[in-house]
Amino acid sequence: MQEARLEGPFRLMVDDVRSATRGRTCGVYALGALRSDGLFAVSFIGASYDELNQDLCAKIGTAPHFKYKAFADPEVAFLELCKLFHAFHPSGNPFHPERPKGSRLRCPVCDPSVRRPEAIARRR
Ligand SMILES: [Zn+2]
Repeated sequence: MQEARLEGPFRLMVDDVRSATRGRTCGVYALGALRSDGLFAVSFIGASYDELNQDLCAKIGTAPHFKYKAFADPEVAFLELCKLFHAFHPSGNPFHPERPKGSRLRCPVCDPSVRRPEAIARRR
């Protein structure tokens, strides 16, 4: 499962968000619930390109737990976000995720010509 590469789960509460994401500003996250059988049931997939801590804190109350993965490059984070969105189709995501501001990157699942992070580097 792609979701296994995310860190966590952590409790979706202020102190836990702060300590788990300390020093990270850009990342992809999954909100959900850790079930009694140990599975993480995803209800929402999101990303923050510059304010990971604040964005997660804004979601407090919408799910009991979260997982996340930090990225240095917002466009790489967007590619991962798209993959997770298409893999899980979470109930909390009625719309396709948005790309980072200023980016023209397209979703690698909707547009197979964009597949790898290397594709980004070549465009710059
Ligand atoms: Zn897509």
